[in-house]
Amino acid sequence: MTPLSENHSPITAFIALGSNLEDPVAQVRAGLGALAALPQTRLIAASSLYRNPPAGYRDQPDFVNAVAQIETRLAPRALLDALLAIERAHGRLRDFPNAPRTLDLDILIYGEQAVCENGLTIPHPRMLERAFVLVPLAEIAPAAVVPGAGTAARLAAKVDATGMVKLSGERVT
Ligand code: ADP
Ligand code: MG
Repeated sequence: MTPLSENHSPITAFIALGSNLEDPVAQVRAGLGALAALPQTRLIAASSLYRNPPAGYRDQPDFVNAVAQIETRLAPRALLDALLAIERAHGRLRDFPNAPRTLDLDILIYGEQAVCENGLTIPHPRMLERAFVLVPLAEIAPAAVVPGAGTAARLAAKVDATGMVKLSGERVT
């Protein structure tokens, strides 16, 4: 059972979702549904879905990515544990870094907090170079601040989004 933090006012957090196995569009949609069902949490907004070429290890299928905005009373560690449980429920195997995955859920931003502890770093340390995170984040919350780095809109404008396709069919670049 996930420990819940009590007497904690709701915090706005942003979660990145990604999948490149076993019907990625359905995986990301199911991930959004699972976020909406978390205890002490409300799903506030979800971005469009985006198709992206794989980063790092390239010999694998394209990814489908999205970003969700939630409001949660779960503390950062409880939220991470809940996300890892959703990943496990979707059959994720952790093979090697950047390996294909059925569902990946990352905490991008948790209020204005910076967290750096064993197994949990917020803001997510690799988000600033990832168009597949910054572009959907800027779509739903252009004014959201990545602590220490600036607004989503400004960061998304600077990142290389080559090859990224919005799944409504509209090309991003
Ligand atoms: P990535 O998402 O960078 O491709 P993984 O999903 O394989 O890598 O890494 C998962 C591990 O990263 C988790 O077990 C978790 O402990 C750690 N981690 C550190 N910071 C975060 C964060 N902000 N959100 C999600 N996982 C994180
Ligand atoms: Mg992850």
